[in-house]
This record gives sequence, structure tokens and C-alpha cells, in this order.
Amino acid sequence: MSLLFLRRYVADRRGTVVLLGLLGILTSGINVAGWRLVGDAIDNGMRAHNDRRLVIDVAIYVVIAVFGWIFGAILIRGLATIGQLIVVRLRDHLFGHLTTLSLRYFGEQRTGWIISRMTNDIDALSDVLGEGLATVTFNVFTLFVSIIGLFLLDWRLALITLVVLPPTIAVSRWFQLRSAVAFADVRTRISALTAQVAESIAGMAVVQAYNREEAFRDEFLALNRENERANRHAQNLSSVFFPAIELCGVVASIAVLLLGASLHAGGSLQIGTLIAFMGLVQLVFQPLQELSELYGQVQSAAAAMDKIKGVLDAEAELPHSAGAETPARISGHLALQGVSFAYGKEPVLRSIDLEIAPGQVLAVVGGSGGGKSTLARLVARFYDPQQGIVTIDGIDLRSLDLAGYRRQLGVVLQDPFLFAGTIADNLRFAAPEASDEEVRQTAEAIGLAHVLRRFSDGLAHHVREGGSGLSAGERQLISIGRALLADPRILILDEATSNIDRPTEVLIERALDRLLSGRTSLIIAHRLATVMRADLLIVLDHGRIIERGRPRELLERDGPFRHLARELAAPSTEQALS
Ligand code: ADP
Repeated sequence: MSLLFLRRYVADRRGTVVLLGLLGILTSGINVAGWRLVGDAIDNGMRAHNDRRLVIDVAIYVVIAVFGWIFGAILIRGLATIGQLIVVRLRDHLFGHLTTLSLRYFGEQRTGWIISRMTNDIDALSDVLGEGLATVTFNVFTLFVSIIGLFLLDWRLALITLVVLPPTIAVSRWFQLRSAVAFADVRTRISALTAQVAESIAGMAVVQAYNREEAFRDEFLALNRENERANRHAQNLSSVFFPAIELCGVVASIAVLLLGASLHAGGSLQIGTLIAFMGLVQLVFQPLQELSELYGQVQSAAAAMDKIKGVLDAEAELPHSAGAETPARISGHLALQGVSFAYGKEPVLRSIDLEIAPGQVLAVVGGSGGGKSTLARLVARFYDPQQGIVTIDGIDLRSLDLAGYRRQLGVVLQDPFLFAGTIADNLRFAAPEASDEEVRQTAEAIGLAHVLRRFSDGLAHHVREGGSGLSAGERQLISIGRALLADPRILILDEATSNIDRPTEVLIERALDRLLSGRTSLIIAHRLATVMRADLLIVLDHGRIIERGRPRELLERDGPFRHLARELAAPSTEQALS
């Protein structure tokens, strides 16, 4: 049963769990003993006209009932705490695991699907682990202790009660099999729904711009209906199951009543014992009913757990070599030898050989889809090449400690992601320990301070997730500041292609001067001005380097770069070409 997986999260609370188990047995024992006392009070107290016995029975009943109440309260509270602990730890584990998964995983999964694991599925588990855990524990114990109580009280009546056991088991098994499928279906449908919502929100601008609202609504409606249908199917199964269990209980009571009446007539059964027995039969079937009601939720939680395990089982694709270390300060000699890479079947990079000396700037140009970003991703080790090696200072990236390496790597993306928070927070993202003064100086150095003048609160200005409210140029400037503050040894820069107003562009260029100096840099260049600052240039086409050399020399040759240069966006293109 997949829910047993959760045991690991309370492995350090084994003592508490055992103690709660004992309390569970005690509490159910008290309920069973209560009916035994009632039987005794009737037969040996009331009917034997023994008032003393009657008083003693009642007194004992009151005392154990008080204990039952206290134990029950401790049990419920203790189990709820354990349940919540499991949920918190599972959520932590899941999120922590997600952050270690490679970008390939996130590329292959729909975002909403992953969000659904973190929200809907954990909620389904939380429902059961919250109140459900106490109900299950209490009822399972009551069930078993009551069955033992039945046999202790009168084995003949106990045996007749068991007549209904086979049909009860058969109905439960039927429900278990059918509902497992039904609840797994419910989980899939709710994920699909969440995925659709996440995608619509992310792409709302495009949806509205192309008048696709209706189509999206229709798609959502269809998914919503599917979800409702799956839920209804699961509930239909439950609607047959619960009353069936109830019916089994009634049949058992009738069987006990009939046999009890004839035993009583034969003189081998006292009336008090019969009454106590009828009470115990209730104690057997009531937990069964409560358990069957919860069973649906448990099935749902098990299905949710399976989905969550699917994520937890996804291995971090990039192997962490044990004991690998990264030099405290890499000098930045970057080389690729015979590197080939494919996301799927189609190769995206083919036999790339490349070398950049420490502190040099490599510009990568080429048409879209040529493999430029992929090359950068391999250098950042978001992926490992299928063939060949990427080395830093002569060491294979795979033998470097990844965290240590990334600490010395700066990445400036074309459309940099800003997190919700202040601009200062975003600048400090890669260097959380940077002081306010350092942040301020960096902002000053790259001219960001100038841009920020339009906000009354400057660096303390709040940006929303994604950085909406800022222009592409401003976002890139912040991203450059972020990298500068982190002071990396190796820099990867994907230059912005979007139209940036000239003043911001000048600021970016100046900021780049500072950022590039003294660091090995790989720039995916879109503007001629940037290309011209490079020490080395490569032109990538369909995953191959079709031209390489110094930018000035290549411009003079009638090769692929000269052709490309005409397309590169730059106000100075004409000057450079002339
Ligand atoms: P460029 O940066 O030169 O435009 P990319 O490196 O982004 O080129 O892409 C090279 C090829 O790899 C393209 O055909 C693209 O469709 C494909 N590709 C890029 N990223 C992925 C990915 N995450 N999964 C599958 N294919 C991808």
C-alpha cells in the first residue's frame, strides 16, 4: 500500500506512535468492557436482585468511561499532530526534490501538473492524515478488540456473527478494486484542470490578444466536466458500498437475535449477555461503517501518494559525483571537446570543439534554432553532453561539485526572471550576503541608479513576479547587476533581442564593459556592437560551427558571419561594415 511510504517521515517518532497505538487499544478495550459491564449489571445485578453488584458495575463503568474520554482526547490530538508532521515533511521533501531535478524534467512536464502534486495531491493526503488518521486508528482497534470481545462473551453468538463476514469482505474487495481506478482517474482529471489554469494564466496576454478566450473556456469547461464525471463515478461506487456494509450489520444483528432467542429459551444464555452481545455487534459494525466511509478518502489519498511518488522517484538527472570538489577560484579556462547533444533524437549540437582562454570573451552567433542556447546550457551544466566533454581549467564538469561550480558562474538571460520583491532583493539574488552599500554601489556602477530615479522608492521599489512593470532593458540591466554583484569567474550572457531604447542600451553596454572584464564569457550575441568586443567568434548553424575566428577578420571575409552581420541589430552596423 503506497501510503506506507509515509512511515519514513515519522521514523524519529516511533515511540510516540507505539504509545498512541497502546492508547488506541486501551480506548477500544474500554468500550468493549463497557458492554460487558452492562451485561453483568443486568444478569448478576438487576436480575439477581444484587444491588451491591449493580452499584459496583456502574461505578467501574463511570471510572473507565472517564479514562476512555481522556485517552480518546490524547489519541486524537496525538494522531493529528503526527498527521500534520507527515504532511509538512512530505511537502518539504517534495519541494526540495523538485529543486534538484534537471531542467529536462521541467521541460517535459506541464507546470500545472507539478503544481497539482504540491497542492491537490498533498491536500488529499492532508485530509486523511488530519482527522482521518484518528478515525482509522480508533476504528481499526475497536473492530479487532470488539471481535475478541464477542468471542470472550459467547463463542456461539460470535460464530453466527461471522456469517456475514464473507459478503462483507467480498463487497469491500469489489469497492477497493473499482474505487482505486476511479480515484486515480479523479487525480488525473484534477491535475489536467490545474495544468489548464496555470497555462491560461501564464499565457493570458496571448489568449486575449488573439481572441481565444472562448476556446480556452470551452477547453476548461470540458476538463471541468470530465473532472465532475470522474468524481461522480467515484461517489456512485461509495453510494453502493456504505449501505451494503450497513446492511451486513443489520443481517448480523438479526442472526444474533434469532440464535440468542433460541439459546435463551433453551436456558443456556442469559438475557443480559444477549443485550451486551447486541451492543458489541454494534461496536463491530459501526467502525466498519465509519471505515468504509473513510475508505474513499483513503483510496483517494493513496492515488495522490502514487502521483507524488512519481515525482519523488524522478531522479536528479545530473549525477553528483561523491566527494567532487570545485577549486575555490577557478581561473576560467573553458573547453569543449567533441561535444554532441540532443534533447530527443535529433542532434542539436554536433562534435563541437572549442576553447576559450581565461578572461576571454566568446561570441556565439547564428540563426535561430542553431543551438546557441543549448551550448550555453551545457556550459552552465543544466544538461550533460551525450558525447564529448566540457571542461573548466581542464577538469570535466561532471567531476566538479555542481554547487561550487555554479557559485562561480553568472548567467544573464535574454528575458531575465525577476522574483516578486524589491529591486535590491533581486540584485542580491545570487549574493544574498551582499551589504546594502554593495548593492547600492553596484546599482550606481551600472547606471541602474539613474533608471531607478523614476521610482520614488528607488532600490526598494517592489517588482512583481516576472518583473512586469519594468522594460526589457531595465530587466536586463538588473540581471547584469545581479551577475556583477555575484562576481562570477565564468559568465553566460544571452543578449536581449527586444527593442531597447537607446539610453538604456548605452547603459547596458557600459554595464557589460564592467561585467565582462576579467571573466571568461560566453555571449549569445544579437547586436554587432557586442560581437565586436569578443576575442573569438563562432557561427553556429544546425548544431555545427561553420565559421570561427576574430570578429574583425571574419567581417573582412565573405563568409557566413559577414552575411549574418547585415542582419544583426545595431545602429553602428553600417559603420562597422564600412
Ligand atoms: P538557438 O539558441 O540557437 O536558437 P537552441 O539551442 O535554443 O537554439 O535550440 C536548438 C534546437 O534545440 C532547436 O531545434 C530547438 O527546437 C531545440 N530545443 C531547444 N530547447 C529544447 C528543449 N528544452 N527540448 C527539446 N528541444 C529543444
